[in-house]
Amino acid sequence: MSGLQSRRMFQAGDIILKQGEKGDCAYIIEEGQVEILIQRSDGKSQVISTRGPGTIIGEMAIVDEGPRVATVRAIKDCKMLEITREDFAQRLKTSDPVIQMISQVILTRFRDTLTRAEILHESATVPPPEILERNYASQSDVVESVTISNEFKHALENDQLELHYQPIVDLAAGTVLGFEALMRWTHPEKGFISPGIFIPIAEKSGLIVEASKWALKESCAALKRMENALGQAEQLYVSVNFSSHDFVESDFVENTVGTTAASGLKPWQIKLEITERLLMQQPDNAKETLQRCRDAGMGISIDDFGTGYSSLSYLYYFPIETLKIDQSFIRAMERDNRSRELVRSIIGLGQNMGLNIIAEGVETREEATLLRQMGCEAAQGYHFAKPLPEQKVIELLKTWQPVKISA
Ligand code: C2E
Ligand code: CA
Ligand code: CA
Repeated sequence: MSGLQSRRMFQAGDIILKQGEKGDCAYIIEEGQVEILIQRSDGKSQVISTRGPGTIIGEMAIVDEGPRVATVRAIKDCKMLEITREDFAQRLKTSDPVIQMISQVILTRFRDTLTRAEILHESATVPPPEILERNYASQSDVVESVTISNEFKHALENDQLELHYQPIVDLAAGTVLGFEALMRWTHPEKGFISPGIFIPIAEKSGLIVEASKWALKESCAALKRMENALGQAEQLYVSVNFSSHDFVESDFVENTVGTTAASGLKPWQIKLEITERLLMQQPDNAKETLQRCRDAGMGISIDDFGTGYSSLSYLYYFPIETLKIDQSFIRAMERDNRSRELVRSIIGLGQNMGLNIIAEGVETREEATLLRQMGCEAAQGYHFAKPLPEQKVIELLKTWQPVKISA
């Protein structure tokens, strides 16, 4: 692990940390002694404590980005071990999600206490309630996240998650090409919890990595069962959503390729759905990872296309197979000329670059017709089918009549 190894020396009298400044590291005192001072608004400073070997200073700055709350000055020559915010974040990421969130709660509470102490000290009056409320509100959010994250972990370990499958339809033939797997969580007391709520919490807590592994494995197994039930092999695919957290795992490719191979499906039957944003966040890592998945035969789809970044050069850079046009453009298409032209351009772009195009969130026959007329090959949305449990998808496909969409 980087960062922790670097040592810094300070001489007696040196200012090590300055109140009000933004810091990005903490120090463990190995040798020497420091004093901690608070600068008051009247300009006077007050020593509040001293610290010696084996203690830590500046720790708040590596947990959040708030300014230093005190000044630290060496009173003897000091030898320090530096911990950077980056190093701390790395360590935190691999720790238990509850520990991650609790550390945030403790920090919020600590900052809150300092704010109160400061206000009381300076005004000698009771602080206005909204100042105190603000911190409590943000704290209860964190507590709620900890609760949900804990419960999600439990759900993951106790088979309480499910996948629903939404058909992706060939607009010319009216047949089903494959499905997108979407995660569903029915909480024993709270009932249905939307992925819009639990996915971001799972991402923040790092639990998404386990959840994605499960989703891929389950999607493969489900597609195999569907093939058996329908008596048709190697005709359908399943598209699984991944997040940026999955990509930084060193065994991502190995796991993804391994899971696909073990399922007995052909690699082309697995599509990895990722957002533009993810690609932009970690381009080099993503390129190599995606290339290895592509070399193994899997498809790469860009989800919510059009909502991320405007640079199109990445379409050449990454080994992409499919663009999924975000549903907001489809929704706006009929009444807004510019959205319609944008959709038309994306379709043209896809055709010119040899990419597949899927329109997301198609709700009406009119939208489907317009898309087909514009040359869009495939679509997904409530007009064709909602995301459904495995058994319902099998029933639907057994009686599926090609949807007729005029050209
Ligand atoms: P997404 O990947 O863009 O998925 C499409 C969302 O649009 C799904 O919402 C789907 O139910 C909904 N949808 C499909 N057709 C229509 C339509 O015609 N009209 C409207 N209004 N909506 C439609 P859902 O299932 O609530 O999922 C929300 C988001 O949560 C997903 O957006 C995805 O970002 C995330 N998510 C869901 N499952 C997973 C998962 O297994 N892994 C990860 N990483 N993210 C997931
Ligand atoms: Ca998706
Ligand atoms: Ca999408």
